Amino acid sequence: MKYGFGVDLGGTTVKIAYFDETGTMLDKWEIPTRRDNGGENIIPDIADAVNRYRKEKNIADTELLGIGIGVPGAVVNGVVNRCVNLGWGIVPIEEELSKLTGLPVKASNDANVAALGEYWVGGGKGSQNVIFITLGTGVGGGIILDGKLLNGTHGAGGELGHMVLNPKETAICGCGKRGCVEQYCSATGIVRLAHQRLEKDGVASTLRELEDLTCRDVFDAGKAGDQVALEILDTYFDYMGQFLGSTCSVIDPEAVVIGGGVSKAGQVLLDGIAPYFHKYVFHAASGVKFALANLGNDAGAYGAFKLVLDK
Ligand SMILES: [Zn+2]
Repeated sequence: MKYGFGVDLGGTTVKIAYFDETGTMLDKWEIPTRRDNGGENIIPDIADAVNRYRKEKNIADTELLGIGIGVPGAVVNGVVNRCVNLGWGIVPIEEELSKLTGLPVKASNDANVAALGEYWVGGGKGSQNVIFITLGTGVGGGIILDGKLLNGTHGAGGELGHMVLNPKETAICGCGKRGCVEQYCSATGIVRLAHQRLEKDGVASTLRELEDLTCRDVFDAGKAGDQVALEILDTYFDYMGQFLGSTCSVIDPEAVVIGGGVSKAGQVLLDGIAPYFHKYVFHAASGVKFALANLGNDAGAYGAFKLVLDK
């Protein structure tokens, strides 16, 4: 049996997990992400954590396949190209981490890596063509085609959050453009749609009593039958239907797996999207299975280790 590490490098913590080659997670732990000094300690810290673990557990080098790592930025040929969250510019992460550990290293973008994890052992298990989207503060994504991650020429493959849904939008997206998927379909997007609806008129709604409106509040009020909340959700599901209908018309996947904070709404999210999805998708691509992600915060670590297995 061979083993390896899956690392999910985030802006505040680094999650490290130890796997056997069948994909069983044997151990996991976290270390803080030290972003000071241009993030220069991050890679040495990860190497240190991995090396200490190998020593502690007496793991022979011959038993190890390597380290896979997901990073919050674009990765091309093992080199990170700007990662604002970490204070990084151009960082040859595979080479640097490999030098410090003596192990093979394979890196990719964190959303892509989470997609790979959900495809491998999560909500997309058993399908060969999977679109994964994560609906959180922003919208991330990853596309698996014939069992392989679509990286793209510039490491931006599967970056679904910045497709334009509404060119007439006046607010500016985090990427600098206007009208991106992320501005409507993220958790932040739902809250924005909610404020826009509430400001439109004075129709009574329990949402008006809340000081800090969240995405969850909108779903909860909708479940309780609040008409304004239901209207907001209807607008949201329409955007999601456009987004996924267009994406599936191009990719024609077996499964769409939805993760991130918004997916905690559960089945009501999938049921709400379904009619709009069928309205917008090209008929030949309409037989898609929708599933909720089920690895939670571990998706990145699973997918990172899968990078090593696929190497
Ligand atoms: Zn954008």
